[in-house]
Amino acid sequence: MKNQSKILRAMSQDGSARAFVINSTDIVNEAIRFHHTTPTASAALGRTLTAASFMGTMLKEKEHSLTLRFQGDGPAGTIIAVADYYGNVKGYIQNPGVDLPKKSNGKLDVGRAVGRGFLSVCRDLGLKEPYISQSPIVTGEIAEDVTNYYAVSEQTPTLCALGVLVDVDYTCKAAGGVLIQLLPYADENTVDLIERNAQFLTSVSSLIAEGKTNQDILDIAFQDIPYDLFDEIDVDYLCDCSRERTARALLAIGEKEVNDVLAEQGQVEVCCHFCDKKYVFTAEDCQKLFAEQAKEEETESDSE
Ligand code: ZN
Repeated sequence: MKNQSKILRAMSQDGSARAFVINSTDIVNEAIRFHHTTPTASAALGRTLTAASFMGTMLKEKEHSLTLRFQGDGPAGTIIAVADYYGNVKGYIQNPGVDLPKKSNGKLDVGRAVGRGFLSVCRDLGLKEPYISQSPIVTGEIAEDVTNYYAVSEQTPTLCALGVLVDVDYTCKAAGGVLIQLLPYADENTVDLIERNAQFLTSVSSLIAEGKTNQDILDIAFQDIPYDLFDEIDVDYLCDCSRERTARALLAIGEKEVNDVLAEQGQVEVCCHFCDKKYVFTAEDCQKLFAEQAKEEETESDSE
């Protein structure tokens, strides 16, 4: 049965902090299904997708999108998650087969898999150039890196907890997270309570595995803090690839390169990085594509 991923949004009544709680189990299971990840890779990619989903819902306009990219020097390679305004995400991990021994506490060693390097957040706000900001990867455990990103790049005190629990059959048993951001002029007393409550959020995935709902988890995060609920929204693993987009990518690669592939393989096969969907273009398809492009260019120069 599909267990729909959801994000719950709330704000403390004194306006000191806003909170997001997500159950992303279903999203992570979709990622595992597409990418055939090992448990360590599932945790690394799953946490990144979970964080990106939160960040997507903070975008201001429906057309905006956000790309969270971990470029570490660890064996997992680059990890990417793209989120839309609704919090829907898609993701990719360069080495889905990364496998490392567990840490002494029995947890998956995501930090070592990711390594050190940079975390960048690229916001496509529909302008000519995307807005990119960057911060160093501090632990590679993803949550700490997101917290550090907000502190360094956006000067926003943030508490971030992320968790992915992988089952014995390599599916995701539970995944989710909590993100709390302080707003300007936050009340000191509320801040102290948030810090006190944070100690009960060290394993969000265990709370979800125990059957706790987003609301239950929010009650832990905001214990003794009066709050107002905004809404609870559905979020999904969603890939927006299409044959049309793939065709545009082929045009960008150029006729010569495409012809080289045709000569070698008889057809061009393009596989989507995010959802594994395969698009096949025959020699005839490619000819047509480039002919149309040439025609368009001709009309453009005619009208000049
Ligand atoms: Zn796709």
